[in-house]
Formats: sequence, structure tokens, C-alpha cells
Amino acid sequence: MSQHKSHEPPETKMMLAVCVDTPGGPESMLLKTVPRPQPKEGQVLIRVHATALNRADTLQRKGLYPAPPGESEILGLEAAGTVATVGPGVKGCWKQGDQVMALLAGGGYAEYAVVPEELLMVIPPQLTLSQAAAIPEAWLTAFQLLHFVAHVKEGEIVVVHAGASGVGTAAVQLIRLAGAIPIVTAGSSEKLQMAETLGAASGFNYKQEDFSEKVHNFTAGRGADIILDCIGGSNWERNIGCLATDGRWVLYGCMGGKTVNGDILGKLLSKRGQLLCSLLRSRSLQYKADLVKAFSEKALPHFSDANTSPCLLRPVIDRTFSLEQIAEAHIHMEANHNIGKIVINVVK
Ligand code: NAP
Repeated sequence: MSQHKSHEPPETKMMLAVCVDTPGGPESMLLKTVPRPQPKEGQVLIRVHATALNRADTLQRKGLYPAPPGESEILGLEAAGTVATVGPGVKGCWKQGDQVMALLAGGGYAEYAVVPEELLMVIPPQLTLSQAAAIPEAWLTAFQLLHFVAHVKEGEIVVVHAGASGVGTAAVQLIRLAGAIPIVTAGSSEKLQMAETLGAASGFNYKQEDFSEKVHNFTAGRGADIILDCIGGSNWERNIGCLATDGRWVLYGCMGGKTVNGDILGKLLSKRGQLLCSLLRSRSLQYKADLVKAFSEKALPHFSDANTSPCLLRPVIDRTFSLEQIAEAHIHMEANHNIGKIVINVVK
């Protein structure tokens, strides 16, 4: 035993992670060896088996969507894997080796990630860790928009833009589960077909037809009760055009631009429309914990058993890549090629 050794700092354990030193294109993401994060009070360290891409990652890579203060600057908003270390003060019954999936504020593109215990979820039986990695961010976003923001009701008609995106494929299924009626827009017949397979009552190719007119016709002139809109600028006029009187227009992304010209307020007012905006990443831990709890109780059981669920839910996976292929994965997403989620298998 050496007296001297006890005064040495503990050995720093290392891990592989995708780092962005200089914001830019997909080539700016570099696989590096960095210190493994340590779980703080109330946190759990996960050995990441798989993570998945989100549009926000491409913005963060470009320097347009920085990590919230105090959070990991490594990209990646979700992960599935096994519990490696339970941190001090964790109250739940999580233990080393448990299979979990988690909503992260950052840090998923790595071999290890830390997460507050409230944001851990049990993986539904029958799903692999790769499939589970496709759930947290997209499904919690869709669930939040529908139930915490828009308060969807049975029988309502909900328009989902980007209906074959990660969030869109989750939203269509959750709308059906809520007893409401999803209609989608997307940019190809293949994407519309997937949305219809998942439960969309109808779908319109926004590149070829005026979705506003189509929604108007589909609803016999009444319009949509809810519009889940991640497009923003380029769609605003057609959105108001097909919104029902007293309808809720939920803005949660601006892929079609952030600026609008014209009498948006007058048109919104004449419909008594509600414009509701939401971001998940910047929400408080308590809000996210409430969301994870509600989702775990109301949605997660429906991923498992076709016999007990009125509507079996499934994560839609477009393609899987390895951590070394991260640039290729981002290029695939930014070309709008994916239908559903792009998963990164961290463990080969
Ligand atoms: P994704 O899987 O990458 O899918 C995005 C799809 O949107 C593209 O494949 C493309 O499909 C469509 N699209 C892209 N640009 C468009 C444009 N200018 N006009 C119309 N359609 C366009 O995306 P995701 O990761 O699921 O995210 C979807 C959206 O949700 C993003 O805007 C993201 O930022 C947002 N989001 C927000 C939150 C939040 O908390 N507010 C959380 C998660 C995600 P087509 O071929 O159909 O055009």
C-alpha cells in the first residue's frame, strides 16, 4: 500500500465521442477520445449502445443551436444503452446493467452519456436497443405537442407537416392512439405512403398540390382543428387558409424560413386561431420529467402488445450508421432522404 498513491487524482476514464471544434458542414464532426462524464447528484451514467439523429443536431453542428448552459456540448439528444453507474442520490431502483433509453439535453453521440434519472425510460419489451434509440426525442416531442400544448381531443383533425420525418412518423401514430384523425403533408409519394401505412387518413404532396385546398376539401370546408407545423415561413398563408375557426396552430420548427410577409395577424384573428410555439430542449427538468412520466404511462405500453393496444406503436427506422459514419448520416438527413429516424449504432 502506498501513502503517496492515495493523494493522486482518480484515474480519468476516457471514451470516444463526436466533437465539433469549428462549427460547419458534416466534415466538421470529428471522432475524438475525451474524458468520460461522471454522474452528479441524481444522475445515471449510460453505456450508450445507440443514439439517433435529430434536425437540431445539424443546426448545432453549424453553430446555430448551442447546447443549453451547463449541458454537454457533444451532439445527440437521445440514447439507448445500459446503466453503467448509478450516481449519488439517485432515488429510483435503477441498477447497473439495466437496459434504458433516455432524453438528453446533449451528449448522445458518445460511448457514455449522463442523464438525470427522471429522464430515463424502461425499454418496451420486444424492442432492440437500436430501435429504442429512435424513440425519446421524436416521440416525446410529438407527445408533448399533442397532449401538453395542443390538448388534442378524440375526433379532431390534425395536420402533420413533414409527415414522414422522425417527429411526423411518431405524431401520426399518437394521433391515432388519441382517437383523432391525422392528415399529412410530405414531399414524395413514398413518404406519403409510409404515413398512410402508419395511420394517416390522407396525405398531400406539398410540392405538387395546394395542401390548404386539399385539407379544406377533406374536412368539407371546416378546416383542421390542429396543425403541427415544423415548416413555418413558407407555409404560413396556407396554414391559416386550412385552419378551422378556433383551431390551434402549433409551431415547433422553421425549416421553411423564419420570416413572414403579409396580414398574418388579421387572418389569424378572423379565424380566432391560436398560434402556440414550443421547444422541448430548453424546458425545465421538472417539465421534461412530467412529460417522460406521462409518455411512459400513456404511450409506452402500446409499443409492446398488439393484443392489448388499440393501436400498436412502432419506431420507424430509415437507416442505421456507425459512429465513424456520422458525417454520412448527417448528409443523408440534410438531403431530406430519410423516412423516419436515422440511428447511429455506437456499439458494433
Ligand atoms: P427529419 O426526420 O430530418 O425530417 C425532416 C423532413 O422535413 C425532411 O425529410 C423533409 O421531408 C421535410 N422538410 C425539410 N425542409 C422542408 C421545407 N423547407 N418545407 C417542407 N418540408 C421540409 O426531422 P426531425 O428530426 O423529425 O425534425 C422535424 C422538425 O421538428 C424539425 O424542424 C425539427 O427542428 C423539429 N423539432 C422540434 C422540436 C421542438 O421541441 N420544438 C423537437 C424535435 C424536432 P419532405 O421530403 O417531406 O420535404
